[in-house]
Amino acid sequence: MVIVMKPDATEEQVKQIEALLKKLGLGVHISVGTERTIIGVIGDKRVLADTPLELMPGVDRLVPIVESFKLAGKTFKPEPTVIRIKGVAIGDKKIVIMAGPCAVENYDQIMQTAKFLKSRGVQFLRGGAYKPRTSPYSFQGLEEEGYRLLAEAARETGLLVVSEVISLASLEQAVKYVDVVQIGARNMQNFQLLREVGRMKIPVVLKRGLASTIEEWLNAAEYIMNEGNYNIILCERGIRTFETYTRNTLDLSAVPIIKDISHLPIIVDPSHGTGKWKLVTPMSRAAIAAGADGLMIEVHPEPKCALSDGPQSLNFETFDALVQEVAKIASAVGREW
Ligand code: PEP
Ligand code: MN
Repeated sequence: MVIVMKPDATEEQVKQIEALLKKLGLGVHISVGTERTIIGVIGDKRVLADTPLELMPGVDRLVPIVESFKLAGKTFKPEPTVIRIKGVAIGDKKIVIMAGPCAVENYDQIMQTAKFLKSRGVQFLRGGAYKPRTSPYSFQGLEEEGYRLLAEAARETGLLVVSEVISLASLEQAVKYVDVVQIGARNMQNFQLLREVGRMKIPVVLKRGLASTIEEWLNAAEYIMNEGNYNIILCERGIRTFETYTRNTLDLSAVPIIKDISHLPIIVDPSHGTGKWKLVTPMSRAAIAAGADGLMIEVHPEPKCALSDGPQSLNFETFDALVQEVAKIASAVGREW
């Protein structure tokens, strides 16, 4: 349930309700909007049977939330969420691009890529330090050294950094080096990891699971938000279907659906979404046209030598072309690049 406060409700009145709900053992989440404040109430509402909340000063009305996800939905927060990290806004008019290799491989590779991306206006450097690979014999990542190299590239270029965490131990390391942690498709329902990322309050890119519905995905976000971390960027990265021509089927309908039912920003990863570098630019154009707030793109100085995901990685030249195409679509749909 949410408590919608009157537009002229005071901070004191909100605090009074918050204190009362907490005393009753309920979870309280406050969303301060431009027009009014909304209080999300989580827990067994039977404890409110003898408490006429609608009569309390400042309260406009009580609205039940019918969706299984509550804090991630629009009833709790009707305005779109804009996440701000060191001066970069995600979910605002300007498109955000997170780009870089699938895996951090060595100093030269990551530094060369970072300098190139920075010169093209990219805001975030991505790169995996811990790689959740399908085969245990594939390259598993440089682990903490990978995070360290990313942090060094960030210091050198001024880029922000996003990198995946696959466990509680990797999360503890990551927060020392990165601006945003990524929870990958394979860990979207690692509930313990979701909770801990929630407690850490670090911004997070939450990828959609390989075979997850939109409802399951938003419930994964709910786990993070319920711990008090609202800085979530959803990332559509394709789902499993019967189609084998592409690595996954990039579900771009998820973009307008998320915009309709959630306030969280959403980006699209056409690299994992298709598995083929030639499809990355066309699907990036489509993602921005569909209303995505940004893109996650795999870029490698020499894709044919990449230790992971070379076939879906752009080189510097093809990435340049992508940026030009995306800029055209962005301006056509009232966004900026
Ligand atoms: C990645 O971003 O490199 C990655 C492993 O992505 P996903 O979790 O979407 O497969
Ligand atoms: Mn990859």
